[in-house]
Amino acid sequence: MFIGHYAPAFVAATSPKSPRLGALFVAAQLVDVAFFSFLILGVEKMRMLPGATVMNGMDLYDMPWTHSLAGAIGWGVLFAIAVKLLRGNWTAGLIGGAVVVSHWVIDLLVHRPDLTLTGSPPKLGLGLWNHPWIEMPLEIAFAFGGLWFFVSRTRAIGAMGKWSPWALAAAMAALQAVNWTTPQPSDAGPAPASTGWLGLFAYAVLAMFAWWVARTRRLS
Ligand SMILES: [Zn+2]
Repeated sequence: MFIGHYAPAFVAATSPKSPRLGALFVAAQLVDVAFFSFLILGVEKMRMLPGATVMNGMDLYDMPWTHSLAGAIGWGVLFAIAVKLLRGNWTAGLIGGAVVVSHWVIDLLVHRPDLTLTGSPPKLGLGLWNHPWIEMPLEIAFAFGGLWFFVSRTRAIGAMGKWSPWALAAAMAALQAVNWTTPQPSDAGPAPASTGWLGLFAYAVLAMFAWWVARTRRLS
């Protein structure tokens, strides 16, 4: 999943005790932000493998620090501590930390068995990336159902707040379309460093849109 990971962020953002939507967008993808950073640094690895799954050619064979359940919980704890330090509030930290861990749970639905509990086998994954006609509607329902839920429980501050969710929706749809239409790799081999940078760029763009949405809407 890509934009489907934002569903827990949208739901959490409707709690008055939660961090705001921009921070929650970072939380929802923190595990992948760490993975793409580690990919660039060579700490974790993936390679291109044509047909690894029907929907993409990612052979994610080495990611113990980010895509193990223990690792995801670790990133969640770090995020919770960061929120506590910045906002002085453990409740907000716990909500943000839970959104971080939700990434691993949602990945479990779509990945082929390449996720772990603690970094070593058994390898887990229900493989919905091999079933596009289930995965794609599910991802759309998660992402835009989440956005609808958030919009229905907030109201606009001024004119900007009326269309900021539409701008976020357009950015999400555009980046997901790029993701879905990127062709499978033609050859097996190491992933280019551009993979990591493109991932980080996409997450940064969406987090900035979400930050703007949060500034232009308030809980109703
Ligand atoms: Zn992931």
